[in-house]
Amino acid sequence: MDSSPSARGLSLPTKILLGLLVGAATGVALNLAYAPPLGGAPTAAWQSVLWWADGVVKPFGDLFLSLLFMVVVPIVFSSLFLGVAGLGSVQKLGSLGGRTLLWFLATTTFAVLLGITLVAVFEPGKAVSPEVAEQIKQQYLGDAQARIAQGAQAKGWMQMLVDIVPRNVVGAAADNGKVLGLIFFALILGAASIRTAPERTRVLRELLESIYELCVRVLGWVMQLAPFGVACLIFHATAKLGIDVMKLVGFYFLTAMGGLVVYQLVVITLLAKVFAGLSPGRFYRGCRTLIVTAFSTSSSNATMPTTIRTATDEFGVPKEIAGFVMPLGATMNMNGTALFEGVSVLFLAQVYGADLSLGQQLLVVGMAVLTAIGAAGVPGGSLPLLAVVLTQVGVPAELLALILGVDRLVDMTRTIPNVTSDLVCSLWLARREGHVLKA
Ligand code: ASP
Repeated sequence: MDSSPSARGLSLPTKILLGLLVGAATGVALNLAYAPPLGGAPTAAWQSVLWWADGVVKPFGDLFLSLLFMVVVPIVFSSLFLGVAGLGSVQKLGSLGGRTLLWFLATTTFAVLLGITLVAVFEPGKAVSPEVAEQIKQQYLGDAQARIAQGAQAKGWMQMLVDIVPRNVVGAAADNGKVLGLIFFALILGAASIRTAPERTRVLRELLESIYELCVRVLGWVMQLAPFGVACLIFHATAKLGIDVMKLVGFYFLTAMGGLVVYQLVVITLLAKVFAGLSPGRFYRGCRTLIVTAFSTSSSNATMPTTIRTATDEFGVPKEIAGFVMPLGATMNMNGTALFEGVSVLFLAQVYGADLSLGQQLLVVGMAVLTAIGAAGVPGGSLPLLAVVLTQVGVPAELLALILGVDRLVDMTRTIPNVTSDLVCSLWLARREGHVLKA
């Protein structure tokens, strides 16, 4: 997942974008050349295009998606368990720890809400005609049928709550649609570990740390296949559905990027003003290196040393506060990721024509917050979890094809609010503790 140019000269993001362009151009060209008009009889040439698209190209795209799914259970479980278990030290820090968590939860929730509001207002997923929307729905219906029926039934509040608690954890982990149960179990087990003597849980913690690290590495390998996977998925979509699909991709991109830019420039800037007393000019002067690092690495983890240095050297935050907030923030506090998840899930639900009930939208908010906490702070870290949220609300994960091709730029951009939110949190805490920030 290195964003630096590879030996062959092209960086991974460039290759993924090329994958999108090659897949889409070939798909659109074949569609324009051979697709019969709506209701027309298919020619032999068109049938062979379909045979290639469905029988050869799609399985490769699906393989890429399965590889993403493969790491979900271990990453979600280990990351959430370790996150909560790590809070043991937060407890010791008393109000500082409490305020940090409050900041994380409040800003993350606000970011998701902003994301889903943008999609509800601008409706980027409805940018195509109803006929095309219906075609898309039909195409992706496939084996997701059962889940859609499950997701479309607006469940009562009580039932939704009851469903969060799994009767069988292994069953919940084995069923993509029930990952909420796994999340719940990981949180509870993490909480139990805080109450248990550290030497009794050391082995489990070390084991889960290893699992987490290995899965992040595997995810890195999977992302190396992204250019090919994306090309296959988008080829399949455009060959069958034509150029309209690309219109959707464009609208999605504008909404997601617009939302992230607004969140950074308006929300984070305001938070810096209100909670840290910094003017926008002063704030961004101190953040330049941080922003460039986050954008270019696309990874909160990789940026963490810079986030700490920015807080201490540029703004005068004491080392203890920066050293406490940033490591937690890099793994748990991802405002940009949460906004992106909200936008993506609602957009794809719109594309799919699934009208989410209020309860389901709240479920999206809750899951986006939790999965933003559970996502690894590495490039594309939230993608496997996004696939899970989609499945949870009955939208086929295959639709991810529509957003993956442009994800790298969105990923680079969402990493900026991910880290600047941590920074402002540390500035706020330092100020509250009576430290004077550098002017
Ligand atoms: N790239 C993000 C980060 O490291 C995670 C993600 O949204 O995929 O903060």
